[in-house]
Amino acid sequence: MTFSPVLTFNDGNTIPQLGYGVWQVEDDIAEKVVVQAFEAGFRHIDTAKIYGNEAGVGRAIERSGLKPEEIFITTKLWNADQGYESTLKAFEESMDRLGLETLDMYLIHWMQPKQDKYVDTWKALIELQKQGRVKTIGVSNFTKAGLQRLIDETGVVPAINQVELHPFFNQAELREFNASKGILTQAWSPLGQGGELLESSIIGQIAAKHGATPAQVVIAWHLAVGNVVIPKSVTESRIRENYAALDVSLDETDVQAINGMDKSAEGAGRIGADPAVSDFA
Ligand code: NAD
Repeated sequence: MTFSPVLTFNDGNTIPQLGYGVWQVEDDIAEKVVVQAFEAGFRHIDTAKIYGNEAGVGRAIERSGLKPEEIFITTKLWNADQGYESTLKAFEESMDRLGLETLDMYLIHWMQPKQDKYVDTWKALIELQKQGRVKTIGVSNFTKAGLQRLIDETGVVPAINQVELHPFFNQAELREFNASKGILTQAWSPLGQGGELLESSIIGQIAAKHGATPAQVVIAWHLAVGNVVIPKSVTESRIRENYAALDVSLDETDVQAINGMDKSAEGAGRIGADPAVSDFA
């Protein structure tokens, strides 16, 4: 079986570049599809407390028979749990649901600038890493200013920033900033949640040229530009198809053509909330 390439974090740990995400997957379905993802070859799973399926992911890990050192599990701290003590408590609750002793990666799910607790929350993640409960700490949905503030106020640079990122919204500027600080960029909604992106003629032409599917071309683009990428599907054939994107290699012309699909200059392309202003309960 082909295994995903790994990328190295600024803390020396590594992450499989291609992973599998389980947003909007119910707990018992999560157990089934995560087992299928492991069977397809995925070794990196992305969940979050708010997805309500950490327990299902935990049961899948147990059923798979894979050892902790063979897999990479991420979960995220929900907004309502931000703050130093509440983060430590929420972490233990997530670990109980996952059934794990040590976590590979813990992320602050959203910056929540209005709430303004993310620096204290980050200090709790630093403490969890010091205690050895979590190997790697990072953030999700952080702006350049938010990242800079964490660095200035704690001296600890996040290992990763997981943000919305797909060809229609390719985050070129933020990726460059992350790289300049030694922060990996992870792409959420990497397929643009399916639909229009996968039906576009540019992706279709590149897919035909490589004998690949549109989803595989988009995943191969993420891998080529250096993103950690976590496509989701609950359909077994698509889970396998997405994993097999590892065998698709795009040339520079393909990568440039897909880079050109970004719509952010027109103020478009973003599907989800803007982390600079979003304020979820
Ligand atoms: P995605 O871009 O991965 O798209 C998933 C959808 O694309 C599927 O539901 C299906 O409709 C379609 N699809 C998948 N494989 C396909 C294939 N081979 N052919 C055709 N269509 C296909 O969207 P997502 O689930 O939003 O994002 C992926 C993961 O990112 C999530 O599961 C979650 O783990 C993470 N995420 C994180 C955040 C965050 O705030 N940190 C937000 C959203 C998602």
